[in-house]
Amino acid sequence: EERMDQLRRQERTIQAALENLFFLYKDHVPTISNVSSTQGQISAADKKQNEAVEMFQYLLARTQQLTINDESRKQKLRNLTKMVETRLHNLQHPQECEGRKKLICKLEKSCGFACQIHHVIYCLIVAYATNRTMLLDDKTWRYSDDGWTSVFQPVSSCKISAHEARSAKRWTGKADVTSASVIHIPIVDVLEQQMPYLPQSIPADLASDLISVHSYPPAWWIGQFAQYLMRPSDDLLLHLNAEEKRLVLANWRPLVGVHVRRTDKVPSEAAEHALSEYMTWVDHYFNVQRFNYPQLAYKPVYLATDDGPVIEEAYDKYSTNGYVMMANEKIAASARLDTRYNEKSLYGIITDIHILSKTNYLVCTFSSQVCRLAYELMQARSFEDKGMNFHSLDDIYYYGGQLGRELTVVEAHSAQRPAEIDLKEGDVVKYEANLQNGYSIGRNARTNRRGQFPSFKTIDKWRIVEF
Ligand code: GDP
Repeated sequence: EERMDQLRRQERTIQAALENLFFLYKDHVPTISNVSSTQGQISAADKKQNEAVEMFQYLLARTQQLTINDESRKQKLRNLTKMVETRLHNLQHPQECEGRKKLICKLEKSCGFACQIHHVIYCLIVAYATNRTMLLDDKTWRYSDDGWTSVFQPVSSCKISAHEARSAKRWTGKADVTSASVIHIPIVDVLEQQMPYLPQSIPADLASDLISVHSYPPAWWIGQFAQYLMRPSDDLLLHLNAEEKRLVLANWRPLVGVHVRRTDKVPSEAAEHALSEYMTWVDHYFNVQRFNYPQLAYKPVYLATDDGPVIEEAYDKYSTNGYVMMANEKIAASARLDTRYNEKSLYGIITDIHILSKTNYLVCTFSSQVCRLAYELMQARSFEDKGMNFHSLDDIYYYGGQLGRELTVVEAHSAQRPAEIDLKEGDVVKYEANLQNGYSIGRNARTNRRGQFPSFKTIDKWRIVEF
């Protein structure tokens, strides 16, 4: 087991380094994404590039073999998932509601569906960490007058009594409030004091098992809470099953999920990206997978978007070369601006997130909570390590209100350009961005200098805390 642990770690390091090498190469050879579609005469230089790219793809595929065939990892992930699920169930369904300490979470946060789910996940994490049963106040949910249970199973078998609602104290971090029997917590954005167990912390009692089998433990951990909360109601389950059947989802493997977020998000919160940019990475994924799946005949893609015309564009441009484009036109229509945040769009967004979470790989913008939620659920919904199965066109993975991501330096670095910073082995770097050209940006906590450094010289530093 110890040897397997080492091998898994090694495998992850190699995969990450190869990915960074690919980024670096791609940055130096800008035509790389067009090479495979070059028509007619191929120049000698292009031929060399093709060969180099193919070699990268081959190497990336080979490093995934260990993951694909790792049965003991699957078993461990299954056991961990079961354990957390049982704990959450026991927390939320105590034998006696009376006398239980409770935490009231108001569902209404004025933002979109995935943002609201992230708010409730944060509540449940705080409830779990402080051994309280979480109760949901869903009286004014913009997505449904019938509240949470119009689509999901009840979060708890306990109810909020009028007395509890009146006596609930607002969490401030002070001891007298912390010990109160009923508390409510504000949205994470206005917390007076961040709790140590906020994302992206992982619980100490599971950390070593989890780190040994998963490449991105914080997303796995958050995914467990998302999975628990989003247990579908009977009606929703019927709908999701019918949708999976309509798409013949189980047959299209491996499947890539693409999420294109536009409309009210751009340009204020995120930059717009052309569909072709997403498709470059879809193509790259399949080019790698052809070595893992020699029989691969199709390139199936599930496209989710809030921008209907993107679906037409996708069908128009990508119905050849083996692509099989799938989307739900009805969903796209219901996601238009006027109906985005109300009942009409609720089934639509849940279905899109559900299908995205069941794909093998995501290509999207992590600036959108929709894709981050799908990525988190993806970790909880299969017992494979899918921590690295995504390509974000913009942000690195983050969680709103999080304790920032940190990296540990594993190889020293002396700055080669004014934009770069020095690193010493063991330094901790506050991680800000991945430039996707082999370099990342962060602030070295030792020197307090902010700048670029080669991504491969650092590894994630997990926040391990007692919950
Ligand atoms: P963010 O704004 O992208 O970070 O995510 P939010 O979930 O907070 O808000 C976006 C809202 O737009 C979603 O909740 C949906 O109502 C809608 N939306 C965005 N992308 C999609 C999509 O791919 N499919 C559907 N059906 N709706 C979407």
